[in-house]
Amino acid sequence: MSDPADQTPSSLLARRGFLGFAALAAAAPIVGEATLARAATAATTSPPSGMALHGQSPNTPPPDAVLINANENPLGPSPAACEAIARIAPLGGRYDLLGETDKLAATFAAQHGLPQDHVAVYAGSSEPLHYSVLAFTSPERALVTADPSYEAPMYAAMTTKAPVRKVALAADYGHDVKALVAADPKAGVIYICNPNNPTGTITRREDILWALEHKPAGSILLVDEAYIHLSDAEDVLDQVAAGKDLIVLRTFSKIYGMAGIRCGFAVARPDLLARLQPFGQNAMPVTGSTAALASLNDADLVPTRKKLIGDTRRDTLAWLKASGYRVIGDPQTNCFMIDTGLDGKAVIAAMRAKGVWIGRTWPIWPNAVRVSVGTPQEMAKFRTAFKATMDSKAALAWNAPPSAGAPRFPHQS
Ligand code: PLP
Repeated sequence: MSDPADQTPSSLLARRGFLGFAALAAAAPIVGEATLARAATAATTSPPSGMALHGQSPNTPPPDAVLINANENPLGPSPAACEAIARIAPLGGRYDLLGETDKLAATFAAQHGLPQDHVAVYAGSSEPLHYSVLAFTSPERALVTADPSYEAPMYAAMTTKAPVRKVALAADYGHDVKALVAADPKAGVIYICNPNNPTGTITRREDILWALEHKPAGSILLVDEAYIHLSDAEDVLDQVAAGKDLIVLRTFSKIYGMAGIRCGFAVARPDLLARLQPFGQNAMPVTGSTAALASLNDADLVPTRKKLIGDTRRDTLAWLKASGYRVIGDPQTNCFMIDTGLDGKAVIAAMRAKGVWIGRTWPIWPNAVRVSVGTPQEMAKFRTAFKATMDSKAALAWNAPPSAGAPRFPHQS
């Protein structure tokens, strides 16, 4: 009998269960923001007559398009990150000659008072998010998630055939932790996105701690802190150090501007991290590790960008409210939702025809559209296009094709 604690690849391959899970994992791809944004674009590609798409394939933005549809960071990687990439590139013939990935994990762990074996480095946080759902849900162990929230965990649950329990956000648009905890006594994963994508709203740390104490036995909390640096939300990394049943996800795709470079973390007790390993142990792109390390070592980066993006968000939200548009909740990140009172997909299509690509709608709120925070110049173009769209009734005149859109979740309740 093989030792279940032995996580070496040969031991994993020798285990029948692992092979079964590997076949299962192949059933559904890892779905991230890039895929979801692209699917949403495809769902709104039939333009109303007279809406030119600049002669481009509808999924390819024209060069001057304002891209505020995928919660990316237009500032890109920091200068220090770019220099680190340029330095490491000539060594790219080796997997990781200088041990950048280990240095990265050690640096993050030291910055947060964690042992290094509590930090697993991945090429973005989509991977560990997907693997967490694969590892801890099953037809008997549900995925519990807020609605609306980031959809990626629900896609992962399609593979494990776990029931999906969707719980409406609370009145302040934070997570309703009592309802999440009560949603299923056999929950496998309770997903909390803090701040939340798409609303940008915050869930209080004390609420997350309450959920940790009261969640069903055998479940884990999956706390996705992709946007935490852009907000004043308090993180829960100390709860990992305290040994709780918790996986925290971090990414370098947001404040650090590295969505196309790829780096992220799963932070958890080693026994929980070991449960993710059978699903993928790919090498890190050394460019991602070195750029992330340079970013962590740049003490000014987070506060500077938080202020820049925060100022742009504040100005945009102030304009929207002064113009009589309804912003949902109190968004604190690089995205927010507007309740347009119209068919959201039609608004998105009309905006795109004006060269401004905004994000998608969620089934629970078909009139609300998600908008990412771009540069001040981009948000000026957004304001012009949004006002013109809302002033014209063209947005009302078009309906999305019924078959278009991302896959549905047949097993969700
Ligand atoms: N989690 C949330 C809430 C996100 O919005 C995203 C991307 O937008 C991710 C995770 C994954 O990002 P990545 O795989 O680029 O790290």
